[in-house]
Amino acid sequence: MSKVVVLGVFVADTAYRAARAPRMGETIMGENFALGPGGKGSNQAVAAARAGVETHFISRLGRDTFADMALQTWKQAGVTAAITKHDDSYTGAAYIFVEAQTGDNAIIVCPGVAGQISPGDIEARSDLIGSASVFVTQLEQPLDAAYRALEIARSSGVQTILNPAPAAKLPNGMLGLCDYVTPNETEAEALTGLAVTTLEEASLAAQKLIAMGAKAAVITLGEKGALYHAGGQSVHVPAFNAGPVKETTGAGDAFNGGFAAALARGLDPVSAVRYGCATASISVTRAGTAPAMPSSAEIDALLAKA
Ligand code: ATP
Repeated sequence: MSKVVVLGVFVADTAYRAARAPRMGETIMGENFALGPGGKGSNQAVAAARAGVETHFISRLGRDTFADMALQTWKQAGVTAAITKHDDSYTGAAYIFVEAQTGDNAIIVCPGVAGQISPGDIEARSDLIGSASVFVTQLEQPLDAAYRALEIARSSGVQTILNPAPAAKLPNGMLGLCDYVTPNETEAEALTGLAVTTLEEASLAAQKLIAMGAKAAVITLGEKGALYHAGGQSVHVPAFNAGPVKETTGAGDAFNGGFAAALARGLDPVSAVRYGCATASISVTRAGTAPAMPSSAEIDALLAKA
């Protein structure tokens, strides 16, 4: 039975579009507002479930309206929630200011109670983690919790994926717990100290990630697709053209969810990277993050056409 288990954070994305950011002490009128589900871990779980694989999401929620939004999002996508609810803090939220003319954004993320996920929370879920085909995490929750979860997954023979986002310095030994590390270009630069703009540079950075302990590295390269490196060989998987690009936010999450689902189904790593790229290339043609994740039928149709 294929099963993906994701550890991570849910936040409610609150996006304010205005001509400019307000100055300190000033109030201005905005042009538009949008509220939607976000958080890297939650988005990745939604992507894996939409791709048709049994998916469980480990996190913490508060007892508030945004917690209801999280539960509704996972129910719609078919994600099983492995969460605890807490009264002493709130469900995370992100303030996203979008500059109307350029579309550029500035973001404040408050992870709330999910920012307090502990190694103890993870140990309480060790059976679930150990029963997975693939375990995935990111770096929005505390590093010690992610580390403990990777240790439990590894000791149970579960395939592990670390999406090292947002970029952070990793504790010693963490990459050694990863079958796959999946940074984007910026995160690969932060981890390796190497510039990553060309395919050759991505290959060198991937080799360094392997020298640092990961079994394999997948560097996502935006519209250029992704570079997979393992066993001394690099393979470039181009992005797909699934239509006009509408919004690239969440592309990395779509990639990771699709990649995890494909590995859980038993695809070989390069085919799984291709599946992840197809998932992400469809998501960028749609608005939003979680609502943009495609179904397995849509992904299969794109792969069949390519
Ligand atoms: P974000 O932080 O915006 O969620 P990211 O920086 O983590 O994204 P990217 O490397 O930008 O991740 O993109 C992930 C994957 O999405 C790429 O490997 C590619 O397959 C797909 N993708 C991204 N941008 C495009 C695009 N313009 N057209 C087609 N596919 C794309």
